[in-house]
Amino acid sequence: PSPASSAAASEAASSAAASEAASTPAAAAGTKIGISMPTQSLQRWNQDGANMKAEFEKAGYTVDLQYAGDNDIPTQVSQIENMITGDCKVLVIAAIDGSSLTEVLKTAKEKKISVIAYDRLIMNSDAVSYYATFDNTKVGTIQGEYIRDTLKLDTEKGPFNIELFTGDPADNNVNFFFGGAMSVLQPYIDKGVLVVKSGQTTLAQCATPSWSTEESQKRMENLITANNYGPKGTKLDAVLSSNDSVANGITNALVAAGYTKDNFPILTGQGCGKPAVKNMIAGLQSMSIFKDTRTLASKVVEMVNAIVAGKEVPVNDTKTYNNGIAVIPSFLCDPVFATVDNYKKLLIDSKYYTEADLA
Ligand code: BGC
Repeated sequence: PSPASSAAASEAASSAAASEAASTPAAAAGTKIGISMPTQSLQRWNQDGANMKAEFEKAGYTVDLQYAGDNDIPTQVSQIENMITGDCKVLVIAAIDGSSLTEVLKTAKEKKISVIAYDRLIMNSDAVSYYATFDNTKVGTIQGEYIRDTLKLDTEKGPFNIELFTGDPADNNVNFFFGGAMSVLQPYIDKGVLVVKSGQTTLAQCATPSWSTEESQKRMENLITANNYGPKGTKLDAVLSSNDSVANGITNALVAAGYTKDNFPILTGQGCGKPAVKNMIAGLQSMSIFKDTRTLASKVVEMVNAIVAGKEVPVNDTKTYNNGIAVIPSFLCDPVFATVDNYKKLLIDSKYYTEADLA
């Protein structure tokens, strides 16, 4: 993958301005929007929620923003119930478990409330009107291609040792992240150029419950012990991780096993969370994927403006995301490849972070 150009950063920065230009319908005033986010423990969701709340309020909407404790499914269900009885006209939901909202959303459908699945698709429900996310397959293929290109798998014989990690199996995105990455890596595993010594290659074996840093750390520690990986033991060349919270646990385990910036395995991530970016700067994690949550938040405000005004809702994909009931019209934002070489442009010049955030 080619490093993101500064154009990508300025495009991201200017999209907020662009959506402001998009017309706010008169009906926005007083219309109540419910925003249901999974957790505050991961920085991105705080930013997603705060960005949307600010943009919606600026446009005149009233906002009920709720976080479901730390990924607590019953809390999310009851918060959504309250939004429905509390007269929200549109619900924007990042589901903890994509399949746990079928019941509660029946009432939303009865009350003709529009539901936008945010970042993660809501499964098995006919109440979902739209889906706003990043191109999740592209996230996975960028990660796989990074490993392929850094290890030069097309010209080197290997074998290279790799271990594989993805996220919470209840999160539909995992199928796309892991699937996208494995579509690139599997042929090299089949040829024996890449070797997964643990033998753990299925999504279920590579899953990380709740995307938890503690869980990924534990699993990496077990893999290190079982396969004698280490700077003085069996060489570990790469670890695929679907996101940063999982990568952070892997980094902790690798550092505890004696790896340093001089011999650290290739390690992927996603999200450009602050701890992960600091690890990249320190020479540990190799890359991450920048998903500018400001862009996604602005897109959702545009979608809601269109819904409220009865206009055509902006989508750019009508064939990828089947939630088990129907293919949901989607808007896919573009994920961008991030490394220590371009993070300043991507994250600081675009004002996503300050220098101090990453110090
Ligand atoms: C999101 C990622 C996030 C992960 C853990 C995924 O559904 O797409 O951005 O890192 O959940 O919260």
